[in-house]
Amino acid sequence: MAPVVTTAVLAPDGRAPVALPRSIQVGELAKAFDSSVVDVIQTLVNLGIMATVNQTIDFDTASLAAGELGIEVVAEEPALLEAGDEVAEEAPARPVLWTDEDPSRLRERPPVVTVMGHVDHGKTSLLDAVRETNITARESGGITQHIGAYQVEHKGRKVTWIDTPGHQAFTAMRARGASVTDIAVLVVAADDGVQPQTVEAISHARAANVPIVVALNKIDKPDADPERVKAQLAEQGVTIEDYGGDVPLVAVSARTKQGLEDLLDVILLVADVRDLKADPERAAIGNVVEAHLERGRGAIATVLVRTGTLQRGDLVVVGTTFGKIRAMVDDRAKTVNRAEPSRPVEILGLPDVPEAGDVLRVVADEKAARLAVANEQRRRASAVAGERPPTLDEMFAQQSDTKAKELRIVLKADAQGSLEAIRGALAKLPQEEVGLNVAYAAVGDITESDVTLAATSGAVVIGFNNKLDAPAKRVADSMQVDVRLYKVIYELLDDMAKALVGMLEPEMVEQVMGHAEVRQTFTAGKTTIAGCMVVDGVVRRGAQARVLRGGTVVHDGKLSSLKRFKDDAREVTAGLECGITLEGNNDVVVGDIIEAYAVVAKPRG
Ligand code: GDP
Repeated sequence: MAPVVTTAVLAPDGRAPVALPRSIQVGELAKAFDSSVVDVIQTLVNLGIMATVNQTIDFDTASLAAGELGIEVVAEEPALLEAGDEVAEEAPARPVLWTDEDPSRLRERPPVVTVMGHVDHGKTSLLDAVRETNITARESGGITQHIGAYQVEHKGRKVTWIDTPGHQAFTAMRARGASVTDIAVLVVAADDGVQPQTVEAISHARAANVPIVVALNKIDKPDADPERVKAQLAEQGVTIEDYGGDVPLVAVSARTKQGLEDLLDVILLVADVRDLKADPERAAIGNVVEAHLERGRGAIATVLVRTGTLQRGDLVVVGTTFGKIRAMVDDRAKTVNRAEPSRPVEILGLPDVPEAGDVLRVVADEKAARLAVANEQRRRASAVAGERPPTLDEMFAQQSDTKAKELRIVLKADAQGSLEAIRGALAKLPQEEVGLNVAYAAVGDITESDVTLAATSGAVVIGFNNKLDAPAKRVADSMQVDVRLYKVIYELLDDMAKALVGMLEPEMVEQVMGHAEVRQTFTAGKTTIAGCMVVDGVVRRGAQARVLRGGTVVHDGKLSSLKRFKDDAREVTAGLECGITLEGNNDVVVGDIIEAYAVVAKPRG
């Protein structure tokens, strides 16, 4: 595409302006500038932009760097729209950028739905069926693109569906602080009933306090047994309306498309009860649902607007990156200028690929953007250090803290029998001071999803006769979740009981008694005796002792004997000489310092 030269001025050095695309990799930029990558990166750093050689930056950022380097740049025609794309009208000027949420401006917003359930129960089929039904009804051709979420219209109202089925994605988003889901559609195959991942999904929805609508799928199958499924759900505490509970159940078939209209009706009813509202006039806040890098288009992020209206041209901070929205594309591959609350759109223009769950915010100017990014970086750094679920030790220690009213656990055991036995025994533990809440219990090894659930619900993971798989271990390490594995039920119960009544053994701490300096050494048989002068405090028989040489600990053990002249001494105080031998250590030389210390119990609380 021919560059559109807007300013045909020559740079002071007589060079023609460099034409740049809307986004460019730092390495490519250096080539275009005929500069070294190091110089370009250094210039960007000086501007407060941390970029690597492979990172893509936008035109505005590149021109800032160019300015610093004394290079003239011009913009190429933006290569945004694919052939045949509808060209959107100019982004309208935003009248006011409200940053607050005014109750008088609140309007109903569409519910956001996530589909969860056991593998093969038809989650993907259901998502496809809902999409197809809706689109063929509304649009010729029915071209849709998978952008991570889509909207359908039902009786003049909209419903937003998150296009990634399963509770793993849902909980991973929550772990990043994004609670985008308003309603969980629990898909249960009528011919297969409640299965392990059905139970998991129920726990995850409950932990997030998200209402459940059961989609009893595959109702077309001859061996469908709705009554059996209803009873199984009741066993899991999901009491459907037929059984006197408040969880709606809709029989559907993703294959024959039976019941889909009813499902949408029910979702909208639940949405009404939740009274979902947002302020379409304020500066938008949203969450990233999905993001990736696309050749020629740069970073692409699907954003779900939570409140406010996102507009083309808005300057947005997304996680730890920011940029101007160059273009927005909806789930029908249509270029749009605006995205209202609950509407998913792909945004183009970010210099970096954000992560799912990252928060998007519209900001007034670049200064505000940089400040927000810096704050977010700080928040993340401190989150790594502080905002993690409590460990069991902290639960033990926190008894006097009014915060710790509940010990939450995610319990996994090797077999149904042991799981039931542990649950039964846990229920019998005294819970006067702290209640025990089993957020989720299931049979099997500890998986990534268990750990994320624990992280998001502030729980400790307890495993019995099982193991932590490798991905789960990585997540536990990075999210600093306390995972305890037991092989003996008694030990597990004992620890839980201690945590509940605050009776864990007191914390052991070191107390230094005194120091002795080695003045001479003698050998008696195979033993080296250190002839010392106690320089401060006191040295006692039987004390723990470490040998310090030039400030480094060369030995840590115990005193085996302490003598004053030829006699055993109970203790030797500062200013007096003594002979010391160390248990299992003859490595002492003149000038060493022997530090005598004790390990004492420090009561908690
Ligand atoms: P997921 O793993 O939960 O996403 O399940 P899929 O959507 O991949 O479906 C698993 C299998 O069940 C596929 O072979 C589907 O064709 C089939 N299936 C899904 N929904 C229905 C349904 O309503 N009726 C019948 N008979 N089969 C279905």
